[in-house]
Order: sequence, then structure tokens, then C-alpha cells
Amino acid sequence: MTASRIWTRVDFDRDGKQVDWLYLPHSVTRSAYGNIAIPIAIIRNGPGPTALFLGGNHGDEFEGQIALSRLIREIDPKSISGRIIVMPAVNLPAALASTRVSPIDGVNLNRSFPGDANGTPTEAIAHWLNAVLYPMADFIHDFHAGGSSLKYLHYGSIRRSGDEALDRRALEALGAFNPPIGMVWGFSPDEGLSHVAALRLGKVTLGGEFGGGGTVSRQGIALIEAGIARELAWLGMAAPPPPAAETAPTRLMEIRGMDYYSLATDAGVFEPAVALGQSVAAGDVSGWIHFVDDPARPPATCHFGTAGMVVCIRHFGRCERGDCVAHLASDIA
Ligand code: CA
Repeated sequence: MTASRIWTRVDFDRDGKQVDWLYLPHSVTRSAYGNIAIPIAIIRNGPGPTALFLGGNHGDEFEGQIALSRLIREIDPKSISGRIIVMPAVNLPAALASTRVSPIDGVNLNRSFPGDANGTPTEAIAHWLNAVLYPMADFIHDFHAGGSSLKYLHYGSIRRSGDEALDRRALEALGAFNPPIGMVWGFSPDEGLSHVAALRLGKVTLGGEFGGGGTVSRQGIALIEAGIARELAWLGMAAPPPPAAETAPTRLMEIRGMDYYSLATDAGVFEPAVALGQSVAAGDVSGWIHFVDDPARPPATCHFGTAGMVVCIRHFGRCERGDCVAHLASDIA
């Protein structure tokens, strides 16, 4: 395997709390011998499992970035056994630019696994995560949101791997995280996903959507913070947090295929016909696309291809043909 160009001063095996950086060489006009300094924290107290928490895979998804930065500041290493590795802004250039893809190379980190050691900066980050960091982890949770273009109901998620024992363990972890909705991805729209890469390595891996629209959801942050405390207890790394006043059981739902997505049939301005959380039948209208440059033309109508609950709606008004305007999930029987 090609060695990564990324280097770091952190000692992954040292007890205590280290907050430092990964250095990714990046030679530009401003800085001939420059490096992109990507934050990383190692919190370790003796032997035990390794939990890896990731935020900022997409730079315009903020709840994970905030919750994980606070975790780094506030966690006392003595309160855990084992090791927590935290990266709140995995694709740092994208996080600093509040963009989904890196402003340096235009690459979406979450479509570029297993990465390329000698590729663009984003590809090099994916390679380092896949080749160096993921193999150290017993448990991975990668926190996402809808980004600029989508609004989401909050949910924690797992992804079917084809390995039943691994999926059972992930489902247990999802139960420990205890989100209001637990999503089971029954298919993978892209093999380059971070989650898919972690599953290929046999890692118990969770994801989830904790906000959207390029905004910050305090409810999403609270869900991540409370969920991490429960995950650490489940892993045997920390004492269980005091039980929440009224914690409802997780509603398990699934996304089974591309027919769960409603796509724009035209370019124009999208007016949604549904709200997040609404139940729809196959053939129901998801919204209308208006042609404001040709007002005599009737709007185009978009439909749902299957029944389910609306968990995601487009946030931006303008759309192009092929954009996802909404998507569904259905209850697991
Ligand atoms: Ca995302």
C-alpha cells in the first residue's frame, strides 16, 4: 500500500488528552512548503476499545463540528477507559469554506473512498482515514447533516453490510445511541462513501443526519452529545449517563432504493407539496417546478415513486433536472 503524505506529531498510544493536527503537504503560491493542518484529538486512559468520532466530512454540516469540538474541550480522560479519537473537521478546507466539496480540488470527501495517497488533498485525506485511522477503531460514528441543499429529520443511521453479525452489532450500537429515528440504509448509492469504506474493514459504524439547510440545529447537537455518552457506556468505556427524563424507543426505518428519492423533472424553482415527517402514498405529488421566466407555462409536477414518510426535503429554491427534491423512508416491519 502507498504510504500517506499526511504526518502528525500525535502519539496514538499516549495516555491523557492531546489536541494537535495532521499535516497534509500542500504547496501553493502563498506557501511553498505549506501544509493543511487538520485538527485531531486523542483522549486515552489505559487499554480498552477505540471509539472514533468524525465531523465536517462535509463542510456545510455543522452539528458534528460543534458537538465534537466541545467534546474535545470538555472530556476528562480519567472519565473513560480506552481511547477516543476525535476529528471535528475532517475535510478542513471544506469546513472553513462552509462547502460540501473541498474548495481546493472540488472533491466530495464522502464520495472518494478508499482515496488515493498521491491524489488531490481530499483524496489524500480519504486514503489516510481508510488506511491509517479506520483500522485503529473498534467503533466509528460519522456525523452528517443535510448540508446547504437539503433539510432532514434528525436520525442516527446504520448501513447494511452483507455481514449479518456486523449488522446486528451496528443495530445494537444504534439502539445505544437511541435517536428518535434509527435509519437502516438498505442500499448504498455510492461505493465511495466513508461508511461503506468502514464496513469493508469490518467496523461497527454509525452515521446520521442532525440538521440541514446550512444552518445549526441545537436539537441536533444535543442529540449527538447525549448519544455519544450512551455509546461510550455501551462500549464499556464510560459510566452510563443519567437516564433522560423521557426517552422514547427508537423508531426504526429504512431506505431501500432509488425509488425512495423524488427527483426534479425540470430546471426551475421548486415548491414543495409536503413537509418533513409527512406520510405519502406512491404517486403522491412531492412538489411543483415553476418557470418564472415563462409564466404562462404551467409548472411541472414531481411525484413520489413509492409510499413512505418524508425525511428529507430540498432546501434551495432553484433546482436542475435530476436534483433530489425530497426522499422517503419507511417503517421496518
Ligand atoms: Ca452529509
